[in-house]
Amino acid sequence: MDKGKYGRLDRLVQEKRHDPYEPREKFPEPTICKQCGAVYMDGRWTWTDNAPEKANMAICPACRRIKDHLPAGTLTLTGKFLQSHGSEIMNLIKNEERAEKAKHPLERIMEIKQESGSIVVLTTGIHVARRIGEAIHNSYHGDYELKYGDAEKTVFIAWHRD
Ligand SMILES: [Zn+2]
Repeated sequence: MDKGKYGRLDRLVQEKRHDPYEPREKFPEPTICKQCGAVYMDGRWTWTDNAPEKANMAICPACRRIKDHLPAGTLTLTGKFLQSHGSEIMNLIKNEERAEKAKHPLERIMEIKQESGSIVVLTTGIHVARRIGEAIHNSYHGDYELKYGDAEKTVFIAWHRD
């Protein structure tokens, strides 16, 4: 038996099982995120006003992505249209995030980089990136492109309108 080969396979399987950014990663229940206060209960992360007194403490996958600066979603907006509608689009981005994050604590914006001629939105989840991208496309048309990477754990969206 080729031990080396199997050893490496075991390691690969383990790395996969312990992906700290995986939204479906299981935690002991209840677990509270010591960064953001989200609570892991009934197999998912939620916001709650009555956090359990006794709970396991951990860092949720979203806060871990923020800490490690490893976005799941990257949304890049470009084009002259941004000059005339920049603040309107920023409002739309924030409203869509607020609505998504209220239901899904792991879906957040981690950073918005506004440069001359572009807005880049980095997110902790792929769904909030898609939601924002689709909202912009629905409201303002333009060119929309979406590409998944990394076993659909990351998404890259580009939107352009002149
Ligand atoms: Zn957190």
